[in-house]
Amino acid sequence: MGWGRLRKKKDIPGGLWTKCKDCGALIYTKEFVQNMHVCPKCGFHHTVFGRRRIEITADPGTFAERFTDLRPTDRLDFVDTVSYAEKIEKAQEKTGQTDACIAGTCQIEGHDVVLAVLDFCFMGGSMGEVVGEKLALAIELAEELKQPIIIFSASGGARMHEGAISLMQMAKTCAALQKFAAAGGFSISIMTNPTTGGVTASFASVCDLMIGEPKALIGFAGPRVIQNTIQQDLPEGFQRSEFLLEKGQLDKIVSRPDMRAMIAQILRYTPRGRNHQSA
Ligand SMILES: [Zn+2]
Repeated sequence: MGWGRLRKKKDIPGGLWTKCKDCGALIYTKEFVQNMHVCPKCGFHHTVFGRRRIEITADPGTFAERFTDLRPTDRLDFVDTVSYAEKIEKAQEKTGQTDACIAGTCQIEGHDVVLAVLDFCFMGGSMGEVVGEKLALAIELAEELKQPIIIFSASGGARMHEGAISLMQMAKTCAALQKFAAAGGFSISIMTNPTTGGVTASFASVCDLMIGEPKALIGFAGPRVIQNTIQQDLPEGFQRSEFLLEKGQLDKIVSRPDMRAMIAQILRYTPRGRNHQSA
């Protein structure tokens, strides 16, 4: 048995089958989507686009998006192979969004929360001015509403096309979270594959609870860069969730199908989560 015959064919009917990026198994796309983009053969968690993340996290029909009027600008007239302005336009066309962060309010198993999601499909979920501003606004909204904030990350890091302005977002988001925590706010960071660079080095790592999806790559510089720099072999599983849990950087690993229920369970134990559930 198997799909050897199909695998040899160059043209697999468009979108009917999806190849697992980890074990290479061919999965019926419908089954793959139903399984929340987790490989049924090996359990690998593929990156999901932002809207799908909201769909599998929020109670149906409860997500109300905010801050949709913020749009990125090409302040530096940055050009690598193509101009940043053109890249933004393409990403907007592809995703139907203005930038890589989707934020709003919703309920998760009846708990009122503020939810912010980084969309890897929009320029690798990179954090520029708009992403940082949306996150800071979302954190402030959570404070105003006295609700927990849940942040899902999937990101290549700071957006180099915006230069120092993108790096400033690291400080801004951390400051917002610090202010929120000092006022009694509760935050959960969920790091998914991959969460790297300036995102790992800022808001994603300073929430009250840090959760990882299984086998997610989480780190600052990538393993190859580190290996080339220190000229040493890296330990097995380096920068994967399981390694980080062992070292204490993550509090828990939760598989995608269990994520929603786990968040709800955590919220039941937090005073603000409880208060708002009965409201
Ligand atoms: Zn697989």
